[in-house]
Amino acid sequence: MPRPARTTSRRLARIAGIDVVFDVSWLIILVLIGVTLAEYFRQLNPGWTQGVVVFAAIVTTALFFASVVAHELAHSLVARAHGLPVHTITLFVFGGVSELTREPDDAGTEFRIAIAGPFASIVIGAVCDGLGRLGSTHQPLFAVLAWLGYINLLLAVFNLIPGFPLDGGRVLRAIIWSANKDFVKSTRWATNVGKACAMGFILIGVLEFFAGAPLSGLWLAFIGWFLLSAAQQSWRQTEIQSALGRFTVGDLETPFFARVAPDVNLEAFISDLAVHNNFRASLVMDADDALLGIVTPADLSRVPREHWGTTLVRDVMVPRGKMATVDPSEGLPSALRKMVESNVGQLPVLSNGSVRGVIRRDRIIELLHGELQP
Ligand SMILES: [Zn+2]
Repeated sequence: MPRPARTTSRRLARIAGIDVVFDVSWLIILVLIGVTLAEYFRQLNPGWTQGVVVFAAIVTTALFFASVVAHELAHSLVARAHGLPVHTITLFVFGGVSELTREPDDAGTEFRIAIAGPFASIVIGAVCDGLGRLGSTHQPLFAVLAWLGYINLLLAVFNLIPGFPLDGGRVLRAIIWSANKDFVKSTRWATNVGKACAMGFILIGVLEFFAGAPLSGLWLAFIGWFLLSAAQQSWRQTEIQSALGRFTVGDLETPFFARVAPDVNLEAFISDLAVHNNFRASLVMDADDALLGIVTPADLSRVPREHWGTTLVRDVMVPRGKMATVDPSEGLPSALRKMVESNVGQLPVLSNGSVRGVIRRDRIIELLHGELQP
């Protein structure tokens, strides 16, 4: 499943070093599935007491979400085995998502990560289904197993729909990618199929809505809308990555940057900063041009005004060992990622250990703006 938009998530568990968190939207589907299951068990077995119905519904809901986590865990563990660490699995209203730190480097890796989740669901589904057939669905244990078997197989089939960003869409992208060796074109194909599938969901949902099944129709349309926006978002990200990927840091760096000596006090530094540097970050360099650190307006704002005269730049700077730097041959996507991760607007460009310029985020954005013009 693709990732939800901005999340407000809380931790549920930690498995194999991966945090399993849930978005508050997950609570909606948790309750909805619990209530639906209670109703299902009540109709399946009118003879069951209220207590048995509720207990079976709670146990089944818990095991269903354990299956969703197992599906995501399968993606995550295969990704990790291929050197792509996953820190969190998020449960949200449309299921679960493993947050990969970056896209896989080759089609084979993409294929194995994508197929691992549905494969886990098929195994769980087949085992539960097999065990469920050993007894009657009038007995709680077998009724629970039979439903888990059915839902896990359904989960595998749904995720294998070949529209990006569903697992099946990633499988499709991997297959096209291995054939044409072009990541961007493959992504375009897979996201277009994804958009078509999503619009199909919306259409069927609307038809169902007017054909007398308003709830399931709405739900289907809602899933379609979510998949459509996720497909568009994935394509946009790929477009940005590929536009930036055509350039290196060396193409966009500027040799002009502000520098300051480590033993200047903040009083003197700040008045100079306002006049000459438009309040940007300054590189802290000694008389031999060695880079010692970087100081930003945010670092200064942490020092009370009355201490500016007695505090030196070296006391507030981010030291060299803790700051990100880039190499002229580095790609712009990697430079931008470093800026976002360290929350700075510029990075020093180092060549053979000495500073030759800086690369600024606003210039990358400007370039991107020009490149993405239709
Ligand atoms: Zn999946």
